[in-house]
Amino acid sequence: MECTSINILYLLLGSNLGDRQAVLSQASEEIVRAVGTIQKSSSLYETAPWGVTNQPAFLNQVLEVRTTLSPDAVLHSVLEIEQALGRVRFERWGARVIDIDILFFNDLVCHEARLTIPHPRLHERRFTLVPLAEIAPVLVHPLLGKTIQILLDETSDITEVTLFSLNSTI
Ligand code: ADP
Ligand code: MG
Repeated sequence: MECTSINILYLLLGSNLGDRQAVLSQASEEIVRAVGTIQKSSSLYETAPWGVTNQPAFLNQVLEVRTTLSPDAVLHSVLEIEQALGRVRFERWGARVIDIDILFFNDLVCHEARLTIPHPRLHERRFTLVPLAEIAPVLVHPLLGKTIQILLDETSDITEVTLFSLNSTI
């Protein structure tokens, strides 16, 4: 008998170089190809850069993905996708056009050198909590024991996160 478990994974996508919206949609296509099915995708949100203000603003999006891959295999895939998208389009600039972070993997808690889940700073970042709360407000953080909506209400981060492009599919 072959048994497969289907895992629920939340990913944060971020881009602040090039055609940010196109990069995010290419990343979603690659995630479907290499990781699993996208169940929900948040709207796109724009976040002003911190500190150095002549840097472009970020676009962020959170995806809920169903996958049969292990956490290590997901990390391997998302790093490959980052490299593929960054290299193909902007090799000469050397800058990364896409960042893909693993926020949650089921209710797994793991603390390894290469991989920390839940993402250790997700509750300190409005640019993560705002899109995550749009698609998963009642999801409970397995270490903090609070829902995403409560973490958003309680965070001390005051960074402005504005709606950029509404996702009308949810
Ligand atoms: P950041 O996302 O903090 O800006 P990077 O994307 O450059 O920084 O960090 C990449 C490294 O972070 C990866 O090589 C990976 O090993 C490690 N890492 C640890 N935990 C996670 C996680 N939950 N999601 C993604 N990468 C992680
Ligand atoms: Mg990252």
